[in-house]
Amino acid sequence: MAIREILIYPDDRLREVAGPVEFPLTDEVRSIIQDMADTMYDAPGVGLAATQVGVPLRIAVTDTDWRSEEVRHENGGEPVAACNLKVWINPEFTWRDAGMATWEEGCLSVPEVYEDVDRPAAVRLRWQDMDGETHEADFEGFQAVALQHEFDHLDGVLFIDRLSRLKQSMIKKRLTKRKKLQNQ
Ligand SMILES: [Zn+2]
Repeated sequence: MAIREILIYPDDRLREVAGPVEFPLTDEVRSIIQDMADTMYDAPGVGLAATQVGVPLRIAVTDTDWRSEEVRHENGGEPVAACNLKVWINPEFTWRDAGMATWEEGCLSVPEVYEDVDRPAAVRLRWQDMDGETHEADFEGFQAVALQHEFDHLDGVLFIDRLSRLKQSMIKKRLTKRKKLQNQ
């Protein structure tokens, strides 16, 4: 188990466009994926893109269940580890719903910022698993939001880019200051 450092905005590496993953996976890529899962659960978060740990490859991990209210309720209020880990490789949306939905989003790379974001309410996704098999499925609700958020990272896009310019500049100021204080 290895926890990797999560890049914090503003950091130029978060703006990199990630490249495709080739199959079969190398041992190095397998261990990156394992580290990404460990890092996500440790953070704790419900999703993590390779871009966020400084690896410019089109990979993301999510587990939208382990911290959900429903799962917590069954576990006496505590989050459970590794409930429904998903690994998404070379993901690509093949359809987006014209209807929009608004969810409050946050990001491990943008600490202490939670804002409402509008996104297509449902999506169809094509992706590869760790064996290189291609899958296609539809997602809606929180999962659709989480997937769109994570895969934005692979194109160097952050959820705050989808907010008003005024909000973006306030967030940038606050986080730049926070970073300076931490580096002192
Ligand atoms: Zn994020």
